[in-house]
Amino acid sequence: MPHRAIIGLGSNQGNRAFYLRIARILIAWDAGVVSRASSVIETPSWGFDSDPFLNQVVVVETALAPLELLDVLQSIERKLGRTQKSFLQDGKPVYHARTIDLDILDYDGIRYKDDRLTLPHPHIAEREFVMAPLRELNINLTDNHEDPV
Ligand code: ADP
Ligand code: MG
Repeated sequence: MPHRAIIGLGSNQGNRAFYLRIARILIAWDAGVVSRASSVIETPSWGFDSDPFLNQVVVVETALAPLELLDVLQSIERKLGRTQKSFLQDGKPVYHARTIDLDILDYDGIRYKDDRLTLPHPHIAEREFVMAPLRELNINLTDNHEDPV
Protein backbone atom coordinates (compact mmCIF):
# COMPACT_ATOMS: atom_id res chain seq x y z
CA MET A 1 0.00 0.00 0.00
CA PRO A 2 1.56 3.30 -1.00
CA HIS A 3 1.59 6.17 1.43
CA ARG A 4 0.48 9.66 0.51
CA ALA A 5 3.13 12.30 1.03
CA ILE A 6 2.61 15.96 0.29
CA ILE A 7 5.78 17.78 -0.60
CA GLY A 8 6.45 21.50 -0.83
CA LEU A 9 9.03 22.64 -3.36
CA GLY A 10 10.72 26.02 -3.41
CA SER A 11 13.57 27.65 -5.32
CA ASN A 12 14.91 31.20 -5.30
CA GLN A 13 18.31 30.85 -6.91
CA GLY A 14 19.48 30.28 -10.48
CA ASN A 15 17.06 28.84 -13.03
CA ARG A 16 14.22 28.33 -10.57
CA ALA A 17 11.73 26.66 -12.94
CA PHE A 18 14.45 24.25 -14.04
CA TYR A 19 15.23 23.29 -10.43
CA LEU A 20 11.55 22.64 -9.71
CA ARG A 21 11.20 20.52 -12.81
CA ILE A 22 14.33 18.45 -12.17
CA ALA A 23 13.27 18.01 -8.54
CA ARG A 24 9.89 16.63 -9.67
CA ILE A 25 11.64 14.21 -12.01
CA LEU A 26 14.06 13.04 -9.31
CA ILE A 27 11.20 12.68 -6.81
CA ALA A 28 9.37 10.49 -9.34
CA TRP A 29 12.56 8.50 -9.90
CA ASP A 30 13.57 8.01 -6.26
CA ALA A 31 10.41 8.36 -4.16
CA GLY A 32 7.32 7.31 -6.10
CA VAL A 33 4.56 8.42 -8.42
CA VAL A 34 3.91 12.16 -8.50
CA SER A 35 0.14 11.86 -8.76
CA ARG A 36 -0.80 15.55 -8.52
CA ALA A 37 0.97 18.87 -8.88
CA SER A 38 -0.21 22.41 -8.18
CA SER A 39 0.57 25.38 -10.37
CA VAL A 40 3.95 26.99 -9.87
CA ILE A 41 3.53 30.33 -8.11
CA GLU A 42 5.97 33.16 -7.49
CA THR A 43 6.19 34.59 -3.99
CA PRO A 44 8.40 37.12 -2.21
CA SER A 45 11.03 35.50 -0.02
CA TRP A 46 9.69 34.65 3.42
CA GLY A 47 11.64 35.20 6.63
CA PHE A 48 14.69 36.68 4.95
CA ASP A 49 15.71 39.33 2.47
CA SER A 50 16.41 37.55 -0.80
CA ASP A 51 15.14 36.98 -4.32
CA PRO A 52 11.55 35.81 -4.86
CA PHE A 53 10.72 32.12 -4.81
CA LEU A 54 8.95 29.82 -7.17
CA ASN A 55 6.83 27.43 -5.11
CA GLN A 56 4.79 24.35 -5.85
CA VAL A 57 3.14 21.50 -3.96
CA VAL A 58 3.02 17.91 -5.23
CA VAL A 59 1.39 14.71 -4.00
CA VAL A 60 3.57 11.59 -4.07
CA GLU A 61 2.44 7.98 -3.71
CA THR A 62 5.43 6.41 -2.00
CA ALA A 63 6.50 3.10 -0.48
CA LEU A 64 9.19 4.88 1.53
CA ALA A 65 8.91 5.43 5.27
CA PRO A 66 8.96 9.09 6.41
CA LEU A 67 12.66 9.19 7.31
CA GLU A 68 13.59 7.33 4.11
CA LEU A 69 11.61 9.93 2.17
CA LEU A 70 13.44 12.72 4.01
CA ASP A 71 16.78 11.06 3.11
CA VAL A 72 15.77 10.97 -0.55
CA LEU A 73 14.61 14.59 -0.57
CA GLN A 74 17.79 15.78 1.14
CA SER A 75 19.90 13.84 -1.34
CA ILE A 76 18.00 15.55 -4.18
CA GLU A 77 18.67 18.92 -2.51
CA ARG A 78 22.38 18.09 -2.45
CA LYS A 79 22.38 16.89 -6.07
CA LEU A 80 20.76 20.12 -7.18
CA GLY A 81 23.49 22.12 -5.55
CA ARG A 82 21.85 23.28 -2.39
CA THR A 83 24.84 23.95 -0.18
CA GLN A 84 23.73 26.32 2.54
CA LYS A 85 21.38 25.28 5.29
CA SER A 86 19.39 27.41 7.61
CA PHE A 87 20.85 27.48 11.09
CA LEU A 88 20.00 29.02 14.40
CA GLN A 89 21.49 32.28 15.62
CA ASP A 90 20.31 33.65 18.97
CA GLY A 91 17.55 31.06 18.88
CA LYS A 92 16.20 32.34 15.54
CA PRO A 93 16.50 30.55 12.21
CA VAL A 94 18.73 32.21 9.62
CA TYR A 95 17.66 31.49 6.05
CA HIS A 96 19.65 31.51 2.83
CA ALA A 97 18.96 31.56 -0.87
CA ARG A 98 18.54 28.00 -2.09
CA THR A 99 18.46 26.29 -5.47
CA ILE A 100 15.88 23.90 -4.06
CA ASP A 101 14.06 23.34 -0.78
CA LEU A 102 12.00 20.17 -0.39
CA ASP A 103 9.78 19.89 2.67
CA ILE A 104 7.49 17.06 3.68
CA LEU A 105 4.27 18.89 4.52
CA ASP A 106 2.28 15.79 5.41
CA TYR A 107 2.64 12.00 5.37
CA ASP A 108 -0.62 10.03 5.69
CA GLY A 109 -1.76 12.61 8.22
CA ILE A 110 0.58 11.20 10.87
CA ARG A 111 2.09 13.15 13.71
CA TYR A 112 5.77 12.58 14.27
CA LYS A 113 8.65 14.46 15.81
CA ASP A 114 12.34 13.77 16.20
CA ASP A 115 15.58 15.70 15.63
CA ARG A 116 15.31 15.52 11.85
CA LEU A 117 11.63 15.45 11.04
CA THR A 118 8.43 17.03 12.27
CA LEU A 119 5.11 15.97 10.77
CA PRO A 120 2.98 17.67 9.79
CA HIS A 121 5.44 20.40 8.80
CA PRO A 122 5.11 23.03 11.55
CA HIS A 123 4.84 26.16 9.37
CA ILE A 124 2.09 25.20 6.92
CA ALA A 125 -0.68 27.46 8.19
CA GLU A 126 1.43 30.62 8.28
CA ARG A 127 2.95 30.21 4.82
CA GLU A 128 0.66 31.44 2.07
CA PHE A 129 3.03 30.02 -0.56
CA VAL A 130 2.13 26.58 0.80
CA MET A 131 -1.53 27.27 1.61
CA ALA A 132 -2.38 28.65 -1.86
CA PRO A 133 -1.14 25.56 -3.77
CA LEU A 134 -2.86 23.31 -1.19
CA ARG A 135 -6.15 25.14 -1.76
CA GLU A 136 -5.73 24.72 -5.51
CA LEU A 137 -5.37 20.95 -4.97
CA ASN A 138 -8.30 20.97 -2.53
CA ILE A 139 -6.15 19.59 0.25
CA ASN A 140 -6.89 20.73 3.77
CA LEU A 141 -4.05 19.90 6.14
CA THR A 142 -4.81 22.37 8.87
CA ASP A 143 -8.13 20.82 9.99
CA ASN A 144 -6.74 17.30 10.22
CA HIS A 145 -4.35 18.14 13.01
CA GLU A 146 -6.34 19.70 15.77
CA ASP A 147 -3.62 20.50 18.23
CA PRO A 148 -0.70 21.94 16.32
CA VAL A 149 2.80 20.55 16.86
P1 ADP B 1 13.21 25.35 5.85
O1 ADP B 1 12.66 24.21 5.06
O2 ADP B 1 12.40 25.66 7.10
O3 ADP B 1 13.45 26.55 5.03
P2 ADP B 1 15.62 23.77 5.88
O4 ADP B 1 15.20 23.28 4.55
O5 ADP B 1 17.02 24.28 6.00
O6 ADP B 1 14.65 24.91 6.41
O7 ADP B 1 15.36 22.58 6.88
C1 ADP B 1 16.00 22.50 8.11
C2 ADP B 1 15.77 21.13 8.72
O8 ADP B 1 14.40 20.87 8.85
C3 ADP B 1 16.29 19.95 7.95
O9 ADP B 1 17.58 19.63 8.41
C4 ADP B 1 15.28 18.82 8.30
O10 ADP B 1 15.91 17.76 9.00
C5 ADP B 1 14.28 19.52 9.18
N1 ADP B 1 12.89 19.11 9.03
C6 ADP B 1 12.02 18.94 10.06
N2 ADP B 1 10.82 18.59 9.64
C7 ADP B 1 10.86 18.55 8.28
C8 ADP B 1 9.90 18.26 7.27
N3 ADP B 1 8.63 17.94 7.58
N4 ADP B 1 10.30 18.31 5.98
C9 ADP B 1 11.57 18.64 5.67
N5 ADP B 1 12.54 18.93 6.57
C10 ADP B 1 12.19 18.89 7.88
MG1 MG C 1 13.42 22.55 3.98
